[in-house]
Amino acid sequence: MTQTTLNAPALFDLSGRTALVTGAGSGIGQRIAVGLAQCGADVACLDRRTDGGLADTVEMIDATGRRAIAVSADVTDRAALDDAVAQAERTFGALGIAVNAAGIANANPAEEMGEEQYQTLMDINMKGVFLSCQAEANAMLRHGKGSIINIASMSGVIVNRGLSQVHYNASKAGVIHMSKSMAMEWVDRGVRVNSISPGYTATPMNTRPEMVHQTREFESQTPMQRMASVDEMVGPAVFLASDASSYCTGVDLLVDGGFCCW
Ligand code: NAP
Repeated sequence: MTQTTLNAPALFDLSGRTALVTGAGSGIGQRIAVGLAQCGADVACLDRRTDGGLADTVEMIDATGRRAIAVSADVTDRAALDDAVAQAERTFGALGIAVNAAGIANANPAEEMGEEQYQTLMDINMKGVFLSCQAEANAMLRHGKGSIINIASMSGVIVNRGLSQVHYNASKAGVIHMSKSMAMEWVDRGVRVNSISPGYTATPMNTRPEMVHQTREFESQTPMQRMASVDEMVGPAVFLASDASSYCTGVDLLVDGGFCCW
């Protein structure tokens, strides 16, 4: 029998790691921020509003015994992102994990969509992820180590039936391919970049008016016949953040209840 010295559960241990999570005031980003802390990380929680859920996120992390700070910044502002990374490192130490979950969604038929609606969403969902990765990677490349996880969407792979959101779908396809491209640029310098593509997930984003009547339809279209809970995004994020995924880079992890199989 061949012996192994591998301690498998320790692969998921994030003790002593510093994490930055964008969009940490709500939904998927908030739950992942708390999940990383539950696995041992100290977390800088970034969102654009201080009057949203950021204080709750910090309180939930405090309750885990880990440390958290709230950082107010817009992901379209590179200087603010640099400040956020610097603040995280000053407070907790070298940045090792980043989860970029900040994003928006809205809908309009393609032939009617104004340039401003298109551009605003692209600026946040695609350029915002790029600028976040840039700021985070600049720190991680200096340390020669780090894991970046971008929250894309199954909408970057499929077109959601009944939803006119060409800009959103394109932005998410962009995030998936951008993640693979950066993964390859940094593959020999210790920085891994992967994406998670959630299926329909129960968050405030899905309470926007055009979604309300469609929730049941989304559930019936999903092979698992239900939406995901935010809790179900934590395992995939911890996996990609941790040493458990040390040989994974450039991966898009679909967490969609089987949606993309049909
Ligand atoms: P959410 O509950 O609305 O959370 C998104 C957070 O990002 C909000 O706190 C939002 O603030 C913040 N944000 C938006 N623009 C920002 C900016 N410019 N700078 C900093 N923060 C900003 O949405 P969610 O459902 O958790 O979505 C999180 C991510 O998952 C998004 O990228 C989304 O596209 C993706 N996703 C969601 C689903 C789903 O079914 N929910 C499925 C697939 C992918 P405001 O409240 O001020 O906007």
